[in-house]
Amino acid sequence: MSIAEDRETPAVPASRTEVEVAIVGAGLAGTVLAITLANAGRKIALVDPHRIHHNEFRAEKTRAEQMRLFEKLGLGPVFRSLVTPMTDLHVFRFGQLFERKQAWEYAFSYTPLVNGLRAALPPQAPLTVGKVAEVSTGPDRQRLVLTDGSVIEARLLVVATGYSEAVRRAIGVERIEESKAHSLSMGFDFAISPQEFGLQSLTFYARRVVDRIAFLTIFRIGERMRANMFVYRTVADPWVRAFRENPQKILLELMPEIAARCGNFAIASEVDVRQVSLTTTQGHRRDGVVFIGDAFATTCPAQGDGIHRVLTDVDRLSSTHIPAWLATPGMAADKICAFYDDPIKIAADERAMRASVYARRITTETGLEWRLRRLRNNTARHLMIFARRFREAGKPSDAGGATGVAFDHTDKAGQELPAGPGLGT
Ligand SMILES: Cc1cc2nc3c(=O)[nH]c(=O)nc-3n(C[C@H](O)[C@H](O)[C@H](O)COP(=O)(O)OP(=O)(O)OC[C@H]3O[C@@H](n4cnc5c(N)ncnc54)[C@H](O)[C@@H]3O)c2cc1C
Repeated sequence: MSIAEDRETPAVPASRTEVEVAIVGAGLAGTVLAITLANAGRKIALVDPHRIHHNEFRAEKTRAEQMRLFEKLGLGPVFRSLVTPMTDLHVFRFGQLFERKQAWEYAFSYTPLVNGLRAALPPQAPLTVGKVAEVSTGPDRQRLVLTDGSVIEARLLVVATGYSEAVRRAIGVERIEESKAHSLSMGFDFAISPQEFGLQSLTFYARRVVDRIAFLTIFRIGERMRANMFVYRTVADPWVRAFRENPQKILLELMPEIAARCGNFAIASEVDVRQVSLTTTQGHRRDGVVFIGDAFATTCPAQGDGIHRVLTDVDRLSSTHIPAWLATPGMAADKICAFYDDPIKIAADERAMRASVYARRITTETGLEWRLRRLRNNTARHLMIFARRFREAGKPSDAGGATGVAFDHTDKAGQELPAGPGLGT
């Protein structure tokens, strides 16, 4: 299967490398898998067209659950050295402080995170900078030909090329759009310094369904205050253009009660905007090749589950499936399917997809069922605020604790959803 039409004839004899596992794509998924397998003594090759991961707006925050997976994979110290930790999280609803949570979260810029992880690749597993020109897969051997003519042969091929379609298409798998243009992620820097801002992290939920906002979260990355806002709109929506032109004006209208905290929302950067669709993969159950991370599925960034899916894929492959596959001859589809049928992987993927769909519906749907659900949630939240005020009146030191009133954190089938900030209205 050929990818690059304009393959050049190499000037020097091309090299040939033989490894156990060839990984295409050195983003978060590919790099972490390469480090984990190489540290376990596996012979691997990691290929990416760029030595330095390009600058892009992607994940900027993650939770303790993902830190535990980094720790499990032996990458806790590396990850910690690349992130800004937070423990004191302020949540605003109905224009007032609703909850003050003590929980670990970690903020970072995606590009330095990926580059920092690449720097942790062990010497026996360097990054091969190159573009895949041809790929062939089968029940025993996988073969990559790069555009410089060099050849990588492997028992197993892992595709970790994120949103990119070239390698996936060449192998013959199809991306299915489950929810096209599902949400829009916006990222920008505030002019205010972390010292002036005071709070470590602030999450704000809009009051009105018509705003179509999942939430705005403001947090510290190193020495700057960063904002991520997730909205259920398309890039073509005039609201998006208006926001890009004057974010300060729209933020002041949406959230006047917290404006003063942010230096009246003065913005110090361009507004990064990325549209994300919910996608799954079809035709992936085949000999010799496995798809991971965003190359397998994409979910809504507002739920913050992308990194969890990536790390779950890497953990299940490196701890269980790849050692078992390499221990016996062949690499036919029945072996590979054990990964796609792994209950832990399925649960992580399903949780992310379910939460993505639910959060959009509870935020934007106007049918009776969803209006009643919102009413139930908001009544419970108002009761929490009332109970806290009542408690504080008698016990002034206890600010912001939870009261234990139940929320609708379940989807239609009654399945529990993660109680992250992304559950919306
Ligand atoms: C705006 C936005 C915000 C997000 N926010 C969050 C969040 O807050 N929390 C969270 O958990 N998740 C979030 N996510 C999701 C998260 O960023 C992704 O799930 C995760 O980064 C996917 O990693 P990956 O390694 O699969 O893909 P990528 O990081 O995209 O890596 C793909 C790699 O493949 C390489 N590649 C591409 N084509 C080829 C080729 N032909 N040959 C070789 N290599 C190739 C690329 O150069 C790249 O290095 C967000 C996503 C977006 C878009």
